[in-house]
Amino acid sequence: ILYNMVQDLKGNIRVYCRVRPSFTSGSSNAVEFVGEDGSLVIVDPSKPTKDGRRQFQFNQVFGPTATQEEVFDHVQPLIRSVMDGYNVCIFAYGQTGSGKTYTMSGPSGGSAKDLGINYLALNDLFQMSDRRKDVINYVIRVQMVEIYNEQIRDLLAEDSSTTKLEIRSCAGDDGLTLPDAIMLPVTSPSDVLRLMKLGDLNRVVSSTAMNNRSSRSHRSLSCLGDVVTALAQKNTHIPYRNSKLTLLLQDSLGGHAKTLMFAHVSPEEDSVLETVSTLKFELGAA
Ligand code: ADP
Repeated sequence: ILYNMVQDLKGNIRVYCRVRPSFTSGSSNAVEFVGEDGSLVIVDPSKPTKDGRRQFQFNQVFGPTATQEEVFDHVQPLIRSVMDGYNVCIFAYGQTGSGKTYTMSGPSGGSAKDLGINYLALNDLFQMSDRRKDVINYVIRVQMVEIYNEQIRDLLAEDSSTTKLEIRSCAGDDGLTLPDAIMLPVTSPSDVLRLMKLGDLNRVVSSTAMNNRSSRSHRSLSCLGDVVTALAQKNTHIPYRNSKLTLLLQDSLGGHAKTLMFAHVSPEEDSVLETVSTLKFELGAA
């Protein structure tokens, strides 16, 4: 069976897949083949058909040995697009523990080594803005919010747990924004890293009080899946209004925007059910 993610999702949407290293020695591996051409073969023993092999096709696949730099090499053109005036949205999805945080932020524990896309991208933005400074004056600002249970919280606010934000359209801005969210100007990558650490801290602190967190957050994720699918199929109606997440990302998905999705999978055989639903782009699957 060949699932062609590239053919299904056209235009300014691209999908990369990343397989993290296996941590449990002894357990079988469901990922059989990671190809430089973007193909990925997994073996699903529960499948009665043929030998259980399923092949998926992505724009790019990164295997367990891929470094953060190698991954970023394939993200860099999109960062250039930001400087050229495009809205760009990069997001990761996949089961808990599959490596989303690793790709986007870096290894857990805030290590300064192996930093992820968020940091490398901003590093790049600063370098490009510096190179172009005689021609254009770029202002780089950071906002960090969390959407949970259809409520938006400002992760950079002093008391992030009580500050609820509303999405509004503001004169002067070209879309829907969060006018009350703190937006801080940054002038160096270390400024950004400091803010990301602060925001992460707020996220972790408040999340301990939330039950059922991951299964609940799948709500807005399935709306995101619906929007991306509708964009890829070039439908006339795109269901942005079905969740706060998609409403907020409206100007960063579709239209003039460029979107990059990372499908994250764990290689272990006991994750194979979740892996298949991630690879088939079933964002809503629990
Ligand atoms: P998620 O955010 O999807 O829940 P994490 O990013 O926290 O998953 O990853 C789970 C664990 O696996 C973490 O300890 C992380 O550092 C590690 N990990 C994930 N991807 C990689 C990778 N590509 N190389 C090395 N370690 C990784």
